[in-house]
Amino acid sequence: MKRLLYYMKEYKKESILGPLFKLLEASFELLVPLVVASIIDTGIANRDSSYVLRMGGLLILLGIIGLTCSITAQYFAAKAAVGSSTAMRKALFEHLNSFSYKELDTIGTSTLITRITSDINQVQTGINLVLRLFLRSPFIVFGAMIMAFTIDAKCAAFFAGVIPVLFIVVFAIMGITIPWYRKVQSQLDRVLLHVRENLSGVRVVRAFNRQQDEMDCFHQDSTTLMNTQLFVGRISGLLNPLTYAIINAAVILLIWTGGRQVDAGILSQGQVVALVNYMSQILVELIKLANLIVNVTKSLACLSRINKIMDREPGMTEGTVADQKQKKNVPCVEFKNVSITYEKGADAALSHVNFQAYPGETIGVIGGTGSGKSTLVSLIPRFYDVSEGEVLVDGRNVQDYTYEGLRSKVGVVPQKAVLFSGTIRENLQWGKKDATDEELYAALETAQGREIVEKKEKGLDTEVLQGGRNLSGGQRQRLTIARALVRDPEILILDDSASALDFATDAKLRKALREHKKEATVFLVSQRAATIRQADQIIVLDDGAVAGIGKHDELYQNCEVYREICNSQSSAEEEKAHEA
Ligand code: ADP
Ligand code: MG
Repeated sequence: MKRLLYYMKEYKKESILGPLFKLLEASFELLVPLVVASIIDTGIANRDSSYVLRMGGLLILLGIIGLTCSITAQYFAAKAAVGSSTAMRKALFEHLNSFSYKELDTIGTSTLITRITSDINQVQTGINLVLRLFLRSPFIVFGAMIMAFTIDAKCAAFFAGVIPVLFIVVFAIMGITIPWYRKVQSQLDRVLLHVRENLSGVRVVRAFNRQQDEMDCFHQDSTTLMNTQLFVGRISGLLNPLTYAIINAAVILLIWTGGRQVDAGILSQGQVVALVNYMSQILVELIKLANLIVNVTKSLACLSRINKIMDREPGMTEGTVADQKQKKNVPCVEFKNVSITYEKGADAALSHVNFQAYPGETIGVIGGTGSGKSTLVSLIPRFYDVSEGEVLVDGRNVQDYTYEGLRSKVGVVPQKAVLFSGTIRENLQWGKKDATDEELYAALETAQGREIVEKKEKGLDTEVLQGGRNLSGGQRQRLTIARALVRDPEILILDDSASALDFATDAKLRKALREHKKEATVFLVSQRAATIRQADQIIVLDDGAVAGIGKHDELYQNCEVYREICNSQSSAEEEKAHEA
C-alpha cells in the first residue's frame, strides 16, 4: 500500500480533483428528485406548463453540469490510475532486470509475466474505481437518506431500516464470492501457464503426437475454471434479484404510507415520488459499491503479488571498478578454490576448482552432461556468485567490477542460441552499438557465418523471427558466435556453441578463432574431444570436480576420465575433421 501511494504521489492533484468532481456530480444528482417533486406539485398540480418547461430545462442543465463533472472526474481518475501504474510497471521491470540468474531461476518467467501485465492492469482498474466511487457511493447513500429525512421523517425511517438490510445482503454475497474469485484467478493462472507451455513447446508436442493429451489436459483445466466461475456467477447472480426484491418491497411500503400521509395532507404527491427516487438511487449506488469492493479486493491481492517481487532484493551487488587494464604475467582468468552450490542442501555443482588462464590461451572444458561445464564458465561474467573461493579477471575479483565493466571484457555465447526479433544487423550490433558493416562481416567471417548472410537476398537486413525460428540451429549458433565476436572481447566463452555444426565447420571455426583472435583468452566448452584437443589447457570435469588439467597428450596418459571420453568418441569422422 505504501508503495502504491509512492507511485501515486506524482499524481496528487489528479487523485484529489477526481473524487472532488465526483462528489460535485453526486450533489447535483441528489437535487434531481427535488426538482421532479416540484414539477409534480407545482407545475402539474396547477396545470402550469411554462413552469414544467422551465423546470424541465433546469433538469437538462443539471444533467449537463453533472455530465461535465463526471467527465472531468473520469479524466483525472484515469490519468492518476494509468500514470501511477505505468510508473509502477516501469519500476517493476527495472527491478526484474536487477535480479541475478538465481532469483530469475527460482521465481520463474511465467509468473513474472503475469505480474507485470495482468496484475498491474488490475491494480490500475482498482485505483481508477477507488478514485471515482470510494467517496461517491457512501456520499449518495447517506446523502439520499438525509434528503429523505428533510422531506418526511416518518417515511425516511424506512430508509434507515432498508439500508442496513441491503448492506447485509450485498456484503454477505460478497463475503462468499471473494474467496472464490481468488480461486478463479489462480485457476486462470494455471490455464495460462498451460497455454504458454504448449505453444512454446509446440514442436515437441507434435513430434510426440501429444496433441490429444494436451487438449484433454487443457480441457480439464478450463472445465475446472468454468465450473468455479459458474458457481461464483450463480451466487453473485442472487445479488440483483434479492436487492431488487427488497427495494421494491420497500417502495410498496413507502407508497402505501406515503399515500396515507398525502391523504392526511402531510405530504404532497411530488414528495412521495422524490422519496421513491431516492430509494432507487441508494440501490444503484450500493450495487456499484459492491462492485467496487470486489475489484478493490482483487486489486489488493494483485498488489501484494507485485509487492512480493518488489520486496525481493537482488542477490548480488555490483562492484565499483569499471575498467581494469590487462597486465602482462597476470592471469586473465583465475579460479581460486571455487565451489558453488545452486540451492541450499543440494550437491555442489562445482567443488574446489583451481586454474589460471593467460591472455591468448585457449582453454578447453570437457565433461559429461551435468558435470558443471556451463556452471564453470558462467562464473566468469558473474552470472552467479560463488559459494566459496574467488574468481579473478585480470587479477581482480569479479565482484569488484561493475556489471558493465566486467561484461564488456567477456563475450559469451550461451549454450542455447538466442536471437531476438529484428534484422540480423540489429542482432549482431548487440555486441557493439556502432559496429560498421565491415566489422560485422569480419566477425561473421570468423564465425563461419558469412555465407548465411550472403545467401539471403537482403543480407544483413534479413529479418530474424522471434527466437530465431527462421534459422536452423547451426545458423543460429554461428550468428550468436559472431555477435560475441563483434564486441572484440578479451575473454571469449563458447559454451557448447558448435554442437549443431558439422565437424568440418567446427574445425574451420576453431582455426579462424586461433588466427583472428590471437590475444583473446578463449574458453571452449564441448562434449566432443576433437573440438578441444588442441587447446593450451584442457579442464576435465567429472561431477563438479576437476578430474585433470593439462594438454591432450598428458591427460590422455594420466587422466582416466579424459581417456574414456576420447576413446568413446574416436570415430573415423572425427579423425577426418581433425585433419581438416
Ligand atoms: P553441463 O553444462 O556440464 O551440462 P551444468 O553446469 O549446466 O552442466 O550443470 C551442473 C549441475 O548444476 C547439474 O547437476 C545441474 O542440475 C545443476 N544446475 C545447473 N544450473 C542450475 C540452476 N540454474 N539451478 C540449479 N541447479 C542448476
Ligand atoms: Mg552446459
